[in-house]
Amino acid sequence: MNRYTVDNKGYYGNFGGAYIPELLYPNVEELRQTYLELIQDASFKDEFHRLLRDYVGRPTPLYPAVRLSEEYGAHIYLKREDLCHTGAHKINNTIGQILLARQLGKKRIVAETGAGQHGVATATVCALMGMGCTVYMGRLDMDRQRPNVERMKLLGAEVVPVTSGNMTLKDATNEAMRHWINHPKETHYIIGSVVGPHPYPDMVARFQSVISEEIRNQLILHEGNPYPDYVVACVGGGSNAAGAFYHYLDEQCVNLVGAEAAGKGIDSGESAATTALGRPGVLHGSKTLLMQTDDGQVIEPYSISAGLDYPGIGPMHAHLYETGRVSFLNATDEEAMRAGLELCRLEGIIPAVESAHALAVLAKLDFDTDDVVVVNLSGRGDKDLETYIRWRDEG
Ligand SMILES: *Cc1c(COP(=O)(O)O)cnc(C)c1O
Repeated sequence: MNRYTVDNKGYYGNFGGAYIPELLYPNVEELRQTYLELIQDASFKDEFHRLLRDYVGRPTPLYPAVRLSEEYGAHIYLKREDLCHTGAHKINNTIGQILLARQLGKKRIVAETGAGQHGVATATVCALMGMGCTVYMGRLDMDRQRPNVERMKLLGAEVVPVTSGNMTLKDATNEAMRHWINHPKETHYIIGSVVGPHPYPDMVARFQSVISEEIRNQLILHEGNPYPDYVVACVGGGSNAAGAFYHYLDEQCVNLVGAEAAGKGIDSGESAATTALGRPGVLHGSKTLLMQTDDGQVIEPYSISAGLDYPGIGPMHAHLYETGRVSFLNATDEEAMRAGLELCRLEGIIPAVESAHALAVLAKLDFDTDDVVVVNLSGRGDKDLETYIRWRDEG
């Protein structure tokens, strides 16, 4: 029997740990020693679940997608994280972490963002709790996700453009960590995925696990049985996938499928498909799989979707890949855009381009007609309208 959750040293099999500069040690150690007690405390859980219900709008629906099901020959359900307040699953985690930050006596929040969804979710909970907020965002991402930049500013956050590297998520994460190193006492770093030093991956996975907790209950109502045949989720750093998989990890009857971004193709040199291209290394504080050159330089990733444009995956997913518990497939920009546009017409739902990668791998799975398939629709496509329009008009 494999263990899929973190051990008490912060490892998932060969991956994980906390590879951090000495200056951050006290902060990360404080988190490590307190996070489990804090988030399992009854009044913390009460407030977390109350905010998820009254503010985020949970539980999100599990929608039986009839026309999509006909198209792919299986019973397909969409877990509607796109209906969360702020438009994606990211807010599940930021609600949890802002409560934790308040408990730790922190006054300010720093965060990184790629597509801007995590930045918006962080700026939102900072406004909710009256905390100062600084968000680092790559210059390229600021250009391709303009509406989210404006939303963060309206919510009172300071958005700092990052011009190092290829000016996307990896570079923003570097700068956010640097900011935290320079302001360790009063600031909490809200990382947006199941990445970073222990205990972040476990903490974020636990906050996101509400997704699979709800799927189980909802499938009992729909199907009389909590176990689907497949759960499919896109993987950037891996937080929506971790949440959708969490309560099924030990249920081997449930096939878990991660969808990575192949960009212009696995062998094109412009890709973000970490399990296909990566090797073990250290990125943003944990040992995991990452795309790197023979001498260990991080390879700049590429994907049409800013939220999947990341050269690594969280250590939990590296372990799930290595043990074979999760099958990792990938979809190119083109496959994802087609699948996203298909959902618009078949179901009247415009998905985030990230989530469209999960939809795109449906065509690569071999379903029986009575298979029950849950696709985690991680976010809505409002932020991607320009990308869809440009694609439709050029393609
Ligand atoms: C951020 C984001 C992702 C990718 O992040 P994960 O941590 O892999 O979930 C996927 N979908 C949407 C809509 C996002 O905003």
